[in-house]
Amino acid sequence: QTDLTAAGIEKKHLVILGSGWGAASMLKDLDTSLYKVTIISPRSYFLFTPLLPSAPTGTIEPRSIVEPIRSIAKRTPAEVTYYEADATDLDYSNNSLKIKFPDSSAVEKEVKYDYLVVAVGAQPSTFNIPGVADYACFLKELPDAIQVRRKILESVEKASLFPEGSAERKRLLHFVVVGGGPTGVEFAGELKDYVDEDLSKWMPEIAKEVKVTLIEALPNVLNSFSKSLWTYAQKTFAENDIQLLVNTAVNNVTDTVITASTKQKDGSTEKKELPYGMLVWAGGIRPTDFTTGLFKKIEGQAGARRGLLVDENLKVKGTENVYAVGDCAFTGHPPTGQVAHQEGHYLASTFAKRAAIDDLEAELVRSSNSDEKSKVQTRLDAALADIKPFKYNHLGSLSYVGAEKAVADLVWGTFSSTSTGGAFTYLIWRSSYIAMCISARMRALVAADWLKVSLFGRDLTKE
Ligand code: FAD
Ligand code: NAD
Repeated sequence: QTDLTAAGIEKKHLVILGSGWGAASMLKDLDTSLYKVTIISPRSYFLFTPLLPSAPTGTIEPRSIVEPIRSIAKRTPAEVTYYEADATDLDYSNNSLKIKFPDSSAVEKEVKYDYLVVAVGAQPSTFNIPGVADYACFLKELPDAIQVRRKILESVEKASLFPEGSAERKRLLHFVVVGGGPTGVEFAGELKDYVDEDLSKWMPEIAKEVKVTLIEALPNVLNSFSKSLWTYAQKTFAENDIQLLVNTAVNNVTDTVITASTKQKDGSTEKKELPYGMLVWAGGIRPTDFTTGLFKKIEGQAGARRGLLVDENLKVKGTENVYAVGDCAFTGHPPTGQVAHQEGHYLASTFAKRAAIDDLEAELVRSSNSDEKSKVQTRLDAALADIKPFKYNHLGSLSYVGAEKAVADLVWGTFSSTSTGGAFTYLIWRSSYIAMCISARMRALVAADWLKVSLFGRDLTKE
């Protein structure tokens, strides 16, 4: 592999931060022979988040929804360097980045770049509500799913040591999900499926005492979906015996009790104390500390709150050569994998065009006479004009709601519709997720997990 481009100039160093939807989608489509490419992320794999809510209950095995970033890199035309590290600091005026091995050791390194793509995602938002960070589980990364799985099993096993109907047994068997966005709704549905379909076979006395509660501060769940789908999700929850507390905001958590206040119709609030055994916090996301550090550092980011402010080409405002995609960028689109994927795909094609622009700029400098210069300038102007603004194409939204039912906001070009309920939507949900899997290997593993569960039930042994 040569270090020179077709025009004989040294290849530029393109550094991508992250290994999630934005970064992996960009890498997958990138012509890596045009640059020296380095990926930096503390996570050495891509995580297929749409199926993460299925992992804690064993519907999907955690390893089935990951794809090593090196394996994605291997399928690109040229070599890619990967560093397992966190970006900790950026000196954007000197094109320099500090990275650190993701543990308490002080292994640090400086990385110089010509182009930087920030795709560091977001982190769960606790709104600084006391006790959430200490006692709740989250559902954002793979280790979270494994922790939730362990917590469910611990609560179930511990509960069986207490007499039937006792307060402590009831507490341990009260599983609470906070947040009625798609993460909370999908997980509550998956959890209830596990209780009804599997736990009820192995521990029927325990299963009948398990209570699943979903708490949402707003009047409805799935607020980003069409209105008819909120109602359907809520009806399905009622049929499925999932307790739904809407208009209820959690404001304190201890190791055993959740305190929340419910807004009443007359405007007053009622305080609730809910003893619980396992709590999953799905209350939304906020920028990572690295991203908020950039808000302060980069001139042009004054006023950034939800993500890095970017221009129509996803270039970070206030910089010359830093781009941002996915949940860490504020584009006015929702923070979804679908948006991050399209942004990553867009940057891959933009960077192919940019390599040609860099070559033309070098040619322009080398051109010796004005005639040659003007020809190169014309080609350069055409290449620059070829970089079109990013345009998001919404393909619809899907959410599982439990009991083999799903809701879907469907979009086909200019046609849009909603779909709810049984076999058809469930089939759309499953086939869309299979189609979205990043590799044939992942597709096969997910399909095998679904088949395994339908034949033998969920494997929920404690690891
Ligand atoms: P991520 O995919 O979160 O990737 C961020 C990457 O950056 C990670 O590899 C991380 O390790 C790395 N990183 C973090 N900090 C640093 C640092 N300092 N330096 C270097 N690297 C760093 N969206 C949908 O469209 N459809 C769905 O069905 C769907 N389901 C979801 C289910 C769940 C449970 C969750 C949590 C989210 C779901 N989403 C879904 C949303 C979707 O996952 C996110 O919008 C998407 O992951 C954003 O992509 P990203 O690349 O910005 O961030
Ligand atoms: P979200 O922001 O969509 O929902 C969080 C919910 O928690 C909100 O409805 C909020 O009102 C509620 N909440 C916050 N604090 C609360 C409190 N103290 N008490 C009670 N309720 C509280 O978060 P999410 O579901 O994690 O989704 C994050 C992003 O990922 C969204 O953009 C979402 O669209 C995307 N996502 C999509 C899918 C899908 O398409 N199937 C699945 C998961 C996530």
